[in-house]
Amino acid sequence: MESKIRVRFAPSPTGPLHIGGVRTALYNYLFAKQNGGDFILRIEDTDQTRFVEGAEKYIIESLEWLGLNFDEGVHIGGDFAPYRQSERKDLYRKYVDMLLDNGNAYIAFDTPEDLDKLRKEYESKKEFFQYDLHNRKSLRNSLNMDKTEVDNLISSGTPYVVRFKMPKNVEVKLNDLIRGDVSVNTNTLDDKVLFKSDGMPTYHMANVVDDYLMKITHVIRGEEWLPSAPLHVLLYQALGWKDIMPKFAHLPLLLKPDGNGKLSKRDGDRLGFPVFPLEWIDPKTKEISSGYRESGYFPDAVVNILALLGWNPGTEQEIFTMEELVEQFDFDRINKAGAKFDLNKARWFNHQYLIEKSDEELAEYVLPIMKEKINSITKEEIIRPISLVKERCNFPSDFENQLSFFFIAPETYDEGIIKKRWKDETPEQLNEIVSILKSTLPFDKQIAHQVVSNHIKEKSWNMGAVMNCLRLSIVGEAKGPDLFEIIDIIGVEESINRIEKAIKTIVK
Ligand code: GLU
Repeated sequence: MESKIRVRFAPSPTGPLHIGGVRTALYNYLFAKQNGGDFILRIEDTDQTRFVEGAEKYIIESLEWLGLNFDEGVHIGGDFAPYRQSERKDLYRKYVDMLLDNGNAYIAFDTPEDLDKLRKEYESKKEFFQYDLHNRKSLRNSLNMDKTEVDNLISSGTPYVVRFKMPKNVEVKLNDLIRGDVSVNTNTLDDKVLFKSDGMPTYHMANVVDDYLMKITHVIRGEEWLPSAPLHVLLYQALGWKDIMPKFAHLPLLLKPDGNGKLSKRDGDRLGFPVFPLEWIDPKTKEISSGYRESGYFPDAVVNILALLGWNPGTEQEIFTMEELVEQFDFDRINKAGAKFDLNKARWFNHQYLIEKSDEELAEYVLPIMKEKINSITKEEIIRPISLVKERCNFPSDFENQLSFFFIAPETYDEGIIKKRWKDETPEQLNEIVSILKSTLPFDKQIAHQVVSNHIKEKSWNMGAVMNCLRLSIVGEAKGPDLFEIIDIIGVEESINRIEKAIKTIVK
């Protein structure tokens, strides 16, 4: 029987979660749900020097916001707890010892200063230093010392690390679910540190041991981890877990909009889009990075955007619910090349989700924004205006500009329109329209529209110009939905006041 699919999202709490990481979590989630499997959150915090306060909480909150719910994890527990690697510290030593015993690892006493010196020496020869099978024989490690010397050094408290002994000239093969067969010769690889002098395993060691202990069946992660995969395969082999090694899938990078390089935080700031799911305030510098949530993106839109950055359904379909994604997701349709972030497309997606929302629901988002401007405004008052302008909005914040004239008479009037459309005869024309509006009460927007248009036609006025000036008087600009809808909402009396005010204010 095939074992139950189990995947993990394994971020390190070193800062806010990049949207590339969110996409990795999403693909893991989709694959797990498609197969009735488990989706696990494991926090990889073995590198204490890079630990950032609040990052773990941020990761959890971000994924919850997007509806990526875990089956097990640091925040909800589970059969394989603990899920935070710093709390699993004692578990790893046993496996490190296994590798030392079976000759796949060795102890190294070289100090950071020793290694730094070597690095500089190599650099001065325009060469690159790595601790590997070509030079390990001349370095300070247990391969070159007898056992008593090693034991003495350890018992006298000399700091040491444990390194993987990369085998010589072995072709490491792995079958990546996205990239197909990948093969690397070990002669180019270094002897990575597995266990550090602070008693903590490194990422590689902890990652492999935990994937094994947590019965992970598929490792789905970013392409930046592909160079580590051969080492991981060798670790599985060296630990005797070759037959239960998970399958690997390395996801393509998220690229800058122009395709030149990895999408970075700076690109987002420069081009006006967030690269983090939620706003992040750096605990040290207090620097604020914008988030999708705070920028007015809807969680389902963000899921949709990220799903299609690297994966395609093979059809024209662009809008997907989470259920549809779970159904259709497929490794075969993940592109090998990096996916370019497209800001306009991201906005378009948000717009699609925005217009699908009910006016009631949108009002929940828009009310706090409008309240900043007009304290007394109510949800009921904005629902109908919202229905009229939502086609013009991509984000809840766009409503502010689109709705304000429903509640506040214009203070200024668009100069361009005045110049182009406002003629000597305009005040007289508008006064006639005011009389018509008064005579057609009770107001009916269709009838009013009809009567006003007929009047303009009868008088052979320029329809566009007169309507423009009428709109200018009521809205202040040439924007907005159907003018008679606006009059209906703000009321005939208010409309007439605005027209009269415009006639008084606008002088050409
Ligand atoms: N802790 C690694 C990260 O921060 C996890 C890589 C992996 O999934 O193996 O991305």
